Amino acid sequence: MGDLLLTDKEATGLVIKDTESSHVPRPRWAAVGRVCSPRKLMIGALERAMQRAWGLHRSAQFRDIGNNRFVVKFSSEGDWRHVMKNGPWQFDFNVVLLQDYAGSIRPYDMVFDTMEIWVSVLDLPMDMMNRIYGELFGGWIGKFISADVDADGLAWGKDLRIRVAVKVDQPLLRGINVKGSEIDVEGTWFDLKYEKVPHFCFDCGRLMHPDDVCPAENEEVKQHWGEWLRASPRRNHKAPAVARPSASSVSYGTRSHASDNWGRGGVTIRD
Ligand SMILES: [Zn+2]
Repeated sequence: MGDLLLTDKEATGLVIKDTESSHVPRPRWAAVGRVCSPRKLMIGALERAMQRAWGLHRSAQFRDIGNNRFVVKFSSEGDWRHVMKNGPWQFDFNVVLLQDYAGSIRPYDMVFDTMEIWVSVLDLPMDMMNRIYGELFGGWIGKFISADVDADGLAWGKDLRIRVAVKVDQPLLRGINVKGSEIDVEGTWFDLKYEKVPHFCFDCGRLMHPDDVCPAENEEVKQHWGEWLRASPRRNHKAPAVARPSASSVSYGTRSHASDNWGRGGVTIRD
């Protein structure tokens, strides 16, 4: 309202009771998304690309709601679940963040700063291949969502897979330095890999740059992140039989690094 001098009617406003707002129509299977790009969103191009990347069985409707945000309405519950559970996604080399449809929040006020992704912790001892360690690792990496474990809480794959919500404006973590106590200096380093990780910067490890500027821009030594952080496509026994193409995943460069123990801090685990 700024400095406007309000009329009596404007100052009184419109009173809406809960009972009146509780029956508003809402789409059944919908999501709100944001394309993390410095360029203005072209909704038509996004619609064509995402329909293809998502491999939808039925068509979906897209609507631009400003600030590189959009609403997508799916025509089936299966399509909606597939898209919400199997991210991350990207469009034009930019990460596409999705949230459940929240009709009561103004689009501009919606916060899109995390991305759900499967993270694999490599080469763990058998005692750490379970849900308990999945929660510990996941909680350190970001926000723990779930772990790929059986009914007994045990992981039977080669690596421990954890579904985590990670901050997109923070560098991807390259490993976990697991320590037995806070005074343990050395610790044991376990490499991390990310499934379907969208385009990220090899200089600073971020999926999006704060204010569109790479924090590592002026650093002399660059490329501390690289292709090695990508997990190779995994055959998931729970996946539907229909092949679903994923969005292209080319990154800034192709140079690859061997992983070194350059992490700091880490997880402290007590017996
Ligand atoms: Zn960067």
